[in-house]
Amino acid sequence: QKTIGILTSGGDAPGMNAAVRSVVRTALYKGMRVIGIRRGYSGLLARDMVEMNLRSVCDTLHRGGTVLYSARCPEFRDDAGVERGKEVCVEIGIDGLVVIGGDGSFRGARDLSIKGIPCIGIPGTIDNDIACSDYTIGFDTAVNTVMDMVDKLRDTSQSHDRCTIVEVMGRRCGDIALHSGIACGAVAILVPEVPFSIDAIVEKMQRTLSTGKKHFIIIVAEGVVNVNGIGSVQDIANEIQARTGVEARSTILGHVQRGGAPTARERVLASEMGHYAVELLEQGIGNRVIASKDNKIVDYDILEALNMKREFNKRLYQIADEISI
Ligand code: ATP
Repeated sequence: QKTIGILTSGGDAPGMNAAVRSVVRTALYKGMRVIGIRRGYSGLLARDMVEMNLRSVCDTLHRGGTVLYSARCPEFRDDAGVERGKEVCVEIGIDGLVVIGGDGSFRGARDLSIKGIPCIGIPGTIDNDIACSDYTIGFDTAVNTVMDMVDKLRDTSQSHDRCTIVEVMGRRCGDIALHSGIACGAVAILVPEVPFSIDAIVEKMQRTLSTGKKHFIIIVAEGVVNVNGIGSVQDIANEIQARTGVEARSTILGHVQRGGAPTARERVLASEMGHYAVELLEQGIGNRVIASKDNKIVDYDILEALNMKREFNKRLYQIADEISI
């Protein structure tokens, strides 16, 4: 009987539970044993694990966070740590491992695969910054959370003729900003992938003011804040207010974007990816990352996936600019 392990690693993301549930249920359906490992690679090294049964993942599909907990494990960056991880897998009898996380987690999965424990990575991060996959688990929910919050900010911006400048997450990736910016009708979207100027934003606002609009939303990706002379979102607000005369306030949404019930789309994506991961392990295949490409679930070699370059959707960015006048 095959035994597989499952863990969640790095930053948590809504939908991770749906992926865990799918892995557990698929593996049990196929007659495998499943070991749930708590707190990522740290839990593997500490043997913090529990055997999963059909009921272990009841009532988790709709919950944010991860029931397996997540952690960062600096030891796993060194060969000695990975070697210990392999030894634990051999000792416990884990024949394959599913790792739900981001880039860093996949590097660990690759190192462990090379040592003979087949590992499959599932992209779980709100940032959508995994180059090989059009979507990562957590992104859709995060965008919807931002949209709900900004809709609320819009109500009060509108009542007071204000400009609201909202900082959203995404690390070096502007996707959360781009998608939420379009969904919320932002007048400007600042992302690390596209150069922008405050002059151009001020000019656009002045044009828009002349047509009668008095309140504005600007979405700023965290990846542009405090780099290249751009200060905090409050600094941007101060400059906009000084140059346009429109009262400007800043809001940093923060970790609220990492929580909440996963959207339906997220649950479906996570369920498909989890199922696919187990199919690969069943065939003894490891060192692969699952991805969603053109609405199909596919897999890539981990190193190949890590070396891919993300392509920012410039066309969508252009559309956002053209329809926000
Ligand atoms: P997110 O970006 O969403 O936070 P992530 O998976 O990229 O997710 P990291 O903190 O970079 O988050 O990595 C998670 C864990 O993966 C690390 O704590 C470490 O245990 C392991 N890891 C990271 N980098 C490597 C590496 N180069 N080699 C082996 N293991 C690594």
